[in-house]
Amino acid sequence: SEVYMNGKWLPAAEATVSVFDRGFMFGDGIYEVTPFYGGKPFLLQEHLDRMSYCLKEIDLEFEKKDLKKLIFEAVDRAGLAQNDCAVYLQVTRGKAPRTHHFPQQVEPTFLMYAFAVQLEGFEDRKLTIKLSPDIRWQRCDIKSISLMANTMLNSEAIQKGHFENVLFRNNRITEGSHSSIFFIKDQKVYTHPEGPEILSGITRRFVIELCTELEIEVIEEAVSLEELSAMEGIFLTGTTTQILHVTSVFQNDRELYNSSEAGAITKKLQEAFRKKTRGL
Ligand code: PMP
Repeated sequence: SEVYMNGKWLPAAEATVSVFDRGFMFGDGIYEVTPFYGGKPFLLQEHLDRMSYCLKEIDLEFEKKDLKKLIFEAVDRAGLAQNDCAVYLQVTRGKAPRTHHFPQQVEPTFLMYAFAVQLEGFEDRKLTIKLSPDIRWQRCDIKSISLMANTMLNSEAIQKGHFENVLFRNNRITEGSHSSIFFIKDQKVYTHPEGPEILSGITRRFVIELCTELEIEVIEEAVSLEELSAMEGIFLTGTTTQILHVTSVFQNDRELYNSSEAGAITKKLQEAFRKKTRGL
């Protein structure tokens, strides 16, 4: 398959990076994943805006003319123009002699490719999660390619048979290793407020808007570990995660929460989400 790298379309095997690329050496870069439903972009501008925010936060100057057109081209070239797929975009600070401080006047390395992804059947999926201390850094609002903590955490969850490792910091639940989390109690929906502790999930924000449309009250407040067992519903959101009902939450090997079926609010949101993404 083809990837777009530094201004050229190349077979993936020919797209290589210098060992001195700061992405390779420092994880000095950011990424984005933007979905296409049946070949149609969903919230593309929102994803690009978040990418711009992250670039600004890490002081990386990157301008790409016709980026949207290139993203569509990636989908086309991958033969996915009618399919469910996503485009991965990554910008690193580029190749420079190794110094901790940001080098000046370096050409960023830009990589992009489209890949097929399953965006069907999320309403029927059931999954369990585990809780762990949030060992990530303090700028989780930046979609950094340095994902050591996230990959360690998710691997731990997968190894124990769970879909996701959901994190807490100062006793408050932040988000998953690669998803946002929502809670339902007394007909109200709770999620951690935006800020440096979480990624501003595009799906998270979209689900908040859906709640407003459906006249479901949303409270952007973190849920504590103690409050967890009293929740009436829990779901995860994300670009490829969509809206997934959580059936159990474990801490160490203890089950803190159980709910075999999605409740009315989760189902309503899933249905509204399907309509918005599929137009039916
Ligand atoms: N939090 C983290 C840490 C993530 O990696 C992701 C997935 N990119 C999300 C939340 C969900 O964000 P989005 O809805 O933009 O995919």
